[in-house]
Order: sequence, then structure tokens, then C-alpha cells
Amino acid sequence: MHMRAMVLEAFGGTLRLETRPVPEPGPGEVLVRVVACGAGLTLESIRLGHLGGSTPRILGHEYSGTIAALGVGVEGWQEGDAVTGSFYLFCGNCVMCASGRETLCLNNKGNIGAKIDGAFADYVVVPARNLVRIPTGVVLREAGIIADAVATPYHIARERARIIAGQRVAVIGAGGGVGIHMLQMAKAFGAFVIAVERDAAKLRRLQDVVPDALIDASESDWQTSLSQVAEGQLDVCIDFVGSPETTSKGLAALGRGGTFVIAGSMPYLRSDKNAVISVAPMYMVNKELSILGTRYATRAEIARSLELVCDGKIKPIIGAAFPLEQAEVAFEAIRQNQVFGRMLIDCTN
Ligand SMILES: [Zn+2]
Repeated sequence: MHMRAMVLEAFGGTLRLETRPVPEPGPGEVLVRVVACGAGLTLESIRLGHLGGSTPRILGHEYSGTIAALGVGVEGWQEGDAVTGSFYLFCGNCVMCASGRETLCLNNKGNIGAKIDGAFADYVVVPARNLVRIPTGVVLREAGIIADAVATPYHIARERARIIAGQRVAVIGAGGGVGIHMLQMAKAFGAFVIAVERDAAKLRRLQDVVPDALIDASESDWQTSLSQVAEGQLDVCIDFVGSPETTSKGLAALGRGGTFVIAGSMPYLRSDKNAVISVAPMYMVNKELSILGTRYATRAEIARSLELVCDGKIKPIIGAAFPLEQAEVAFEAIRQNQVFGRMLIDCTN
């Protein structure tokens, strides 16, 4: 049996349609019939080789589908089960995995879609331990953007920023695929949510989503507006851009006891990716600020994100969808930073 696959021949290159044999799941692995795949900046980072792995490689890290075959020794799953999963190849045994922080696995082997073949294909083989069940009530196609674009915001809201109801929370880069779900997540946690976005078209469309206030980051002193909108007490600022400008202005807008969360994957893609954050020690002391990093989400958090979607608390926002064979068009849209919300590759047509 054969399948279609979009293959990256070499880092930095373009994707090419190939016909390949359907892979067989080894011990502890499952074969998944792919329904949909999310596409965003993580993929562009993988394409450029910033997240490791090797080529030629089938890309695609965030997927939904149904189990088509089980490898030897796989228990707890059946053919036909609807699944998504973590794209980290964590070990499940180290001290980080055992303490529920599998994204920080000491033996992480890399990512699905970079180190091993991903889901830009009719079928993908993944370790069974990576799987997360998709509950009935979540549309399978929409589940294709939950494992990263929704789960990452859940990890930020609950484990890193620890958002509590009534806090004022700003999201920088709010119109992107993860940012837009971060807005919804902060709202679901009961926050007053401020969207910061520099693209005029995205800013207009954000008005119809969830934020309580919008800040136009194309204006030179937007940090002043941000601080004012938060009435001087911005509790949390989540930065999906991570540039010298956004980090310095975001930190400047924080109120007392504020938390700044660096969440961006943009630094990989910019010429100033080696830039550092500069902050006066006494500014940190006087306001008792926190600066945090954040990294993806665990399987438990992906499962909870699926429940939030099932309960209608989060609505997956698919900004554009492309058939599998046009995945390269999606990359161009990512590079142009054009798409509002998350992009989806539809592997069923
Ligand atoms: Zn581990």
C-alpha cells in the first residue's frame, strides 16, 4: 500500500509531493491515518533546520487522525480510536518526565516531523506513549490544531503565568496561530484580556474574537497605551514575538508583581535572534517582577485543552486550510505572516 507525503529534501528547501510505502508501526508504535495537520512558525523553524533532525523528512508535528494499526506491545488503544498527541520524543522515564514535565525530558530525542517522519502524509507512525485521545464532541479536523496551538496557551495560563480571574493579561503577537488561542485561554481563566498586534488587518479581525482591549503595536510608544489600558496594573504579559522591542516594551508596561512570559518561536526566524533581554536589576526588585520561559505542553495539558474545546470554552480558529498537496502554499503564507489564526493542512483531500 502506498501513500502521499510532502517531503522536505534538505533544510531550507521546499516541500515535494512523493509517493511512499505506508510505514509499518514497530514495537510500541501506532500507525495513524491522518485527517488534519496544523501549520505555523514551529514548522518554518523545522524547515530551516533550527529544531534539529535530519532530511529528507516528512514534516508535520501537530495532527489529528484515527489509529489504523497497532505495533507489537501497544495496549490501551484500538484501531479506529481518534487521536492527536505530543510532538516531543520524550523518554517517559527521566526525572523531568516522572515529575510531569515531559517537555523538559533529559533524554528528548527531538520532534515528530523533524527527527522522525511527521504527518504531512496520508499516514504517520508515532510512539503510542505520545498519543492523546480525542473526545467525542471535538471535530476531528479541528483537533488537528489543538495539540500545539491550543495546548501551548493552556500550559502558559495554568503552569507558567498561573493566570487567576480578574488579572489583566496582555498577549503580544495576538493575531498569530498560538496568540489567538492564548487570548481565548486567558479569557477562559477569567482575565481582562488585551491583544497587542502590529498588523492592521489582524488587528481589525481581532475585534471579533475575545479581547477586552486592542493595542496597535505599529505605534512607536505602544507600551504606554498598554499600561494605560491596564490602568497601570498589567499583571501578565505573554510575548509570542520575543524581539528586543517586544521584550523591552512589554517589561516596561508591567505593573507591580507582574509576570513576563517569553513564549515566542519568532526568535529562530529573525536576524536578531541572538539579541538579549536587558532589564535594570532595581526595576525587577522594585516591582518584584518575574520573567519566565515556557515550552510547549504535556499530554495531560493537551487532553485538558481538548476538553476545553469540547466544552465550548475555546474555539479553534482555522485561518486558512490547504489540501495536503498544497502544503508549500501554507509555508509561503507563514513566511509572509499573512494568516489570521492557525493554518490547517487537510490530509483527507
Ligand atoms: Zn524523559
